[in-house]
Amino acid sequence: MMENERITTPSPLSGDMEIDRTLRPHELNEFVGQSKIIANLRVFIQAARERREPLDHVLFYGPPGLGKTTLAHILAREMGAQIRMTSGPGLEKPADLAGILTNLQPGDVLFIDEIHRLSTVVEEYLYPAMEDFRLDIIIDRGPHARNICLNLPPFTLVGATTRAGLLTAPMRARFGVVNRLDYYQPGELEAIIRRSARLMNVKAAEDGITSIACRSRGTPRVANRLLRRVRDFAQVESDGTITAAIADSSLERLDVDRYGLDEMDKRILSCIIEKFNGGPVGLNTLAVAVGEDSGTIEEIYEPFLIKEGFLKRTPRGRQTTVRAHDVLGISPERPAQETLF
Ligand code: ADP
Repeated sequence: MMENERITTPSPLSGDMEIDRTLRPHELNEFVGQSKIIANLRVFIQAARERREPLDHVLFYGPPGLGKTTLAHILAREMGAQIRMTSGPGLEKPADLAGILTNLQPGDVLFIDEIHRLSTVVEEYLYPAMEDFRLDIIIDRGPHARNICLNLPPFTLVGATTRAGLLTAPMRARFGVVNRLDYYQPGELEAIIRRSARLMNVKAAEDGITSIACRSRGTPRVANRLLRRVRDFAQVESDGTITAAIADSSLERLDVDRYGLDEMDKRILSCIIEKFNGGPVGLNTLAVAVGEDSGTIEEIYEPFLIKEGFLKRTPRGRQTTVRAHDVLGISPERPAQETLF
């Protein structure tokens, strides 16, 4: 049940790794949507290749499941380079960073996921590495301590973050290319589901694809996850073809909302309606009330709720819309004194 409740969460769930790998597009041509970013990346890749230089450092930011890791892999492949993967929390000490950097081959892509979680000291070591391909390290301690400078092969750092607001200004300034990934349009999600169904050898009718797409929270990772679940129902309870009827009934049974809202989306909306009479309520108050970090609400949940017209950001705080009340089936209760006067 717990898993069902979280089936629309955009962050990876335990079973996603395998499916993410098999369905991940490998080339820019296969990547659906984000057309402006893709068009620019094509130019930067071609220009770097013609100059026989590594690509400038690239930052991808935006909510989880929109393709940041996928794009990092694609960039490496299009540059004919190897990719080394790590993450902000994985690089605890400068030595961890030094180990990775000194093992890079010229032109390699170093992917750092959750780059906003790098420690300050590791970040300090990363700056000269990014700027001059140089690593200044101190070896030994006390009176024998020596500073040595290592030259690194030229490489491309690809950083990914869901929380651009937490990135330090000097870190951000060191990326030549900064891209914000946005939620996918229904038509784009349909194209992604169509492609995934083909790769998974599942027959899917167009109306079935549409039904999954509109429940996917604008997020390819969720779309692929829902497709996988619906495939099971189609196989066991029908002839294996995904139709709208099968998709609708199975997703309903998994408690997947018709609008793609996940559990936290709903908690945010119902909290504003029930505890704050529909708002306006300040971000920090709201964060405490739902038990989530205010930055996470602002950068991960709000953009989707605003885009879909469930939430408004006003100068006095966050306010739910009529659509939110309709969808959740609750209306804000006015305090008694308000109705009296
Ligand atoms: P992020 O790093 O932003 O959390 P990922 O790159 O891991 O997201 O994407 C999650 C999954 O969604 C990928 O494995 C891939 O299968 C799918 N995906 C993401 N973006 C696209 C896209 N534009 N086209 C097709 N599939 C995509």
